[in-house]
Amino acid sequence: MGEELEIAVIQTSLTNLIIYNLMALLGVLALLWVKQVVGQRLSERRRHRYRVVCSVCGQVFHDPAREMVVTCPACGRHVERQEVLDI
Ligand SMILES: [Zn+2]
Repeated sequence: MGEELEIAVIQTSLTNLIIYNLMALLGVLALLWVKQVVGQRLSERRRHRYRVVCSVCGQVFHDPAREMVVTCPACGRHVERQEVLDI
């Protein structure tokens, strides 16, 4: 009788251990997923921040400088930086 109880205790603790391990694994996976999604969002926003559309010829180009007026590489005119909206 006592031995059976011991086995039952060991089995439940083993089950708990497996459940905790699975939960920990799921937590790690969720964290990794969230990290990846956040990183993707940030890199996308960074890419959009440097995107400039020429108002003269419509050329889309990247300019990492922070200046408000940039020179268009296609037509050579000075273009004012403005927010690029995705439709
Ligand atoms: Zn242009």
